[in-house]
Formats: sequence, C-alpha cells, structure tokens
Amino acid sequence: MSSAAGGDLPSPFADIPALVHDHSYLPIRFSGLVDNALVYISGFVVLRALKQLACDVCRASLVTDAASAIKDQSYHLLSLRNNGGLVIPSEGTVRVVREAESAIRQASANCRRSQPIKLKEVEYIVRKRIGSEDVFVLGEHISDTQYGIDSHNHTLLTLVVSLFFKIRLNHIR
Ligand SMILES: [Zn+2]
Repeated sequence: MSSAAGGDLPSPFADIPALVHDHSYLPIRFSGLVDNALVYISGFVVLRALKQLACDVCRASLVTDAASAIKDQSYHLLSLRNNGGLVIPSEGTVRVVREAESAIRQASANCRRSQPIKLKEVEYIVRKRIGSEDVFVLGEHISDTQYGIDSHNHTLLTLVVSLFFKIRLNHIR
C-alpha cells in the first residue's frame, strides 16, 4: 500500500460508500484503503469523545496510551488541548473502531438478517471480542468506577462504539 498521495486531503467520507459496498474482500481483514478510512474516522470519534469525557486519564487514552500520558504530562496536555486540530487516535481507539466496523459488516453480509444491526448489538459483539483485554491501556485505572457503577473502561468503550456508529450511520449508506 502506498500512501504517496500527498498534497490536498480528500474529503474523509467521499470514497467510503464505494469501499463499503465493495464485497470483493473478506469482512474481517480490511484493505489498506478501508483501514486508512477507519483510522481517519477514529480521529473524528476522538474529537467528539474528548468533548464528552470528564476523566483526564480516559481522555488521554483516546489519543495515546494512558500509561505514557501519565508519565509525560506535557505531551498529554498538548494533545488534549489540540481539540480543533488534528488528533491522532490511540491504537486502542482504532482497534475498537475496527472491531465495530467488522461487526457491522458481518451483520450486513448475513442474508438471514432482515434488519440492519443495532448499536446495542455492535456494542455486545465488540465487548465480546475484546474480552478482558485492557484495550485502552488504562493500567490500574481500568477497574476505577464512576459513581460506583460502570468502570471507566466500560464507559470509554461504550462511548467510542456509539460515536463511531453514529458517524458511520450518517456518512455511509
Ligand atoms: Zn477514566
């Protein structure tokens, strides 16, 4: 895969419908182009998530892994303050977005389904695939709870999946 196309950036969503409706590849393994689109969309997910999340450790984990963000406060602040500009989604964010995309694709490839997949189903599948893995590299923060109910990890995963689902629904048909 070459990424030689320098210069002006294409619209983030322009080419996605064609890619999504191209059935020539398998649902799990994405082509380089689709993968690039997913990383790009992950950036949008992160921008929106940062506006909704109050916890700094969780916020940091979306742009980089939380463990190194804690070690390097200056980078942490810089990346978090850069709200309007370019954000680089963390590996964990991209991983969750990839799993969500693959869940949506598998559902739409299943002819026995009469209805499009719902957000709750996507969440369920993503959660099942990731299991107990510390996907956002939260470290000890993984078991911290908010108001004694859901863990921050749980909240983070739900937020990323739902934001991606909404963005995808609005831009890809
Ligand atoms: Zn948190």
